Amino acid sequence: MPEKVVIIGSGPAGWSAAIYAARANLSPVVYEGTVKPEMIPLGQLAFTTEVENYPGFPFGNVRAFIESAVSKDRHWNLPPVPKGEEQDGQPHYAVQGVELMELMKQQALNFGVRVVSDDIVDIDVDNDIRRVIPASGEPVATHTIIVATGARANYLGLDSEEAYKNKGVSACAVCDGALPLFRSKPLAVIGGGDSAVEEATYLANLKDAATIYLVHRRDQLRASKIMADRALTHPNIEMVWNSTVSEVLGDGNLVTGLRLESTVDDSTRELEVGGMFVAIGHTPNTAFLQNKLQMNEKGYIQWTEAFRTKTSVEGVFAAGDVADDYYRQAITSAGTGCMAALDAERYLAEHNL
Ligand SMILES: Cc1cc2nc3c(=O)[nH]c(=O)nc-3n(C[C@H](O)[C@H](O)[C@H](O)COP(=O)(O)OP(=O)(O)OC[C@H]3O[C@@H](n4cnc5c(N)ncnc54)[C@H](O)[C@@H]3O)c2cc1C
Repeated sequence: MPEKVVIIGSGPAGWSAAIYAARANLSPVVYEGTVKPEMIPLGQLAFTTEVENYPGFPFGNVRAFIESAVSKDRHWNLPPVPKGEEQDGQPHYAVQGVELMELMKQQALNFGVRVVSDDIVDIDVDNDIRRVIPASGEPVATHTIIVATGARANYLGLDSEEAYKNKGVSACAVCDGALPLFRSKPLAVIGGGDSAVEEATYLANLKDAATIYLVHRRDQLRASKIMADRALTHPNIEMVWNSTVSEVLGDGNLVTGLRLESTVDDSTRELEVGGMFVAIGHTPNTAFLQNKLQMNEKGYIQWTEAFRTKTSVEGVFAAGDVADDYYRQAITSAGTGCMAALDAERYLAEHNL
């Protein structure tokens, strides 16, 4: 018997789809992926520390709740409780990325969702009954597929950058810019396109923002004119032209600066900053879907109907960042994960499957 719903991916989109599909008695299976650089089970949030903007999780003693909700055999995966603020003798912090994702996974498991720790390397959509092809194991027949494989942030690829992730290096200003770690500090945004300008403007508009350096390898921005003007005229944004980052500098705990190399001569300089936001684009995890589903010019899956998660192939739906090169947030991914499950449910009902 074919599965009713196979979900590929285990970020907010995948788990939300799984929770909705399971509660609709569709017995979904989630392929959660395996560990690779820049991609892990539980998705992109598993790479970050505190998540302050996911509704429903105000600061508090988050761990007490999590330990009561998440099954004990996965407590090993919970990060240490952040040291710092206490209230009434209790830890007081925003939910951490891994904690939030473990809660989503637990919620799905509570409704009987089956989870397979494997990657899907191909899909076969030539017949009415679709198939997903795992890296190991036999192909799995299914009536519907929900692709929720996300998009990974591109980084510069420096060892020092890796060493300071979550200690002042980030790839998401909207997510992390307001964290105490970055507050009132001079910061650098790396890149020259629309998203780099957006990140820099976002940081520059925060309360108590210090100087935001926009570091670009060329002497003009790639961003659209209107966006570029926004950065060039912003009183808090200072352009650093013709420069690339050769090293992230720090004191072992936090970022303290960047070593920059000129792209026009042999000079180098140090820029004193308390954080670096890399804004050089994202790579959607769609390589295994080439020539199977319609994608946009950046490789994101294209929805074929407004406000629906339908793709170019009937019965195949896409949710989360893999189909969204604009918002890329946990809450929007969870939202479209819900939509994909409802779309799959309707498709199955319409086809008496
Ligand atoms: C450093 C950082 C901090 C962030 N902070 C915030 C924040 O504070 N608030 C916020 O709202 N957003 C934040 N984001 C953005 C947020 O993480 C993403 O928008 C969200 O995780 C996208 O969810 P998703 O389910 O679409 O994809 P992802 O979370 O990327 O999950 C995709 C999943 O698919 C799996 N996968 C990929 N390919 C395959 C395959 N072939 N087979 C099987 N599995 C596969 C991956 O392993 C992964 O588990 C942050 C992102 C980063 C990088």
